[in-house]
Amino acid sequence: QLSITSITKRFGETPVLKGVSLDVANGEFVSLVGPSGCGKSTLLRIIAGLEAPTTGSVTLGGVDVTATRAADRNLSMVFQSYALYPHLSVGENIAVPLRMRELTGLQRLPVVGGLMPGAKARRQRIASQVSRAAEMLEIGALLDRKPGQLSGGQRQRVALGRALVRNPAAFLLDEPLSNLDAKLRVQTRAEIAELHRTLGATFIYVTHDQVEAMTMSDRIAVMMGGEILQCAAPDIIYEDPDDIRVAEFIGSPK
Ligand code: ATP
Ligand code: MG
Repeated sequence: QLSITSITKRFGETPVLKGVSLDVANGEFVSLVGPSGCGKSTLLRIIAGLEAPTTGSVTLGGVDVTATRAADRNLSMVFQSYALYPHLSVGENIAVPLRMRELTGLQRLPVVGGLMPGAKARRQRIASQVSRAAEMLEIGALLDRKPGQLSGGQRQRVALGRALVRNPAAFLLDEPLSNLDAKLRVQTRAEIAELHRTLGATFIYVTHDQVEAMTMSDRIAVMMGGEILQCAAPDIIYEDPDDIRVAEFIGSPK
């Protein structure tokens, strides 16, 4: 279970998160919606351990996320901008988290005779993990290309592949489809839903698209002004909002 407890965040004097708490069950798909600037990305980065909260804590499976080294965290984040390395191939981009994990792990191992133990076996293991993730996302034929030689949709898949290859307990996705055209968005949405079903992992999914939130989620968390106003099943959010601001936001076309 993912537990977000009483998170506050200030940037200088400005409070951006004002006490956010949310418990997400293993395998649950929770969408996070709310107006621009309400703090969704900030919250996601804090959950990922990429940014420290001013107060509060995040635990995943009982383990404090901020106390875990980045490479060992049991979650993956996908950024809106994809954040791929332009000079690395698709395959190398997907392999980055595995290599990081390996490098930090190696610091704990004795180096035998100046050679890293089992280097070849590890290389092969990484290659097979990368190709498995790439096959799942249907980018197996693109492994040698550079990100600059890909379409937006293909780049998106590479970013998903890089998240997938870690085999995390939780995926954090920050508006992953916003750069895609309408048709590709519908297709990729279905694929993300399929990934969720196949992997059984926990998903937290930030989106501006209410149809997306409605169709994909077990629960929708509606955020405004640095707080979660309500977190409930889609039909409850739509038919029985417990705050007038939730009703107004959900009813409005973005
Ligand atoms: P959007 O839907 O536009 O992506 P959001 O809900 O993701 O918005 P955040 O990016 O979390 O919003 O930003 C919340 C608030 O915090 C904004 O007012 C933003 O300007 C501010 N903010 C975010 N990051 C920083 C930072 N590093 N320093 C100062 N202020 C920041
Ligand atoms: Mg954002």
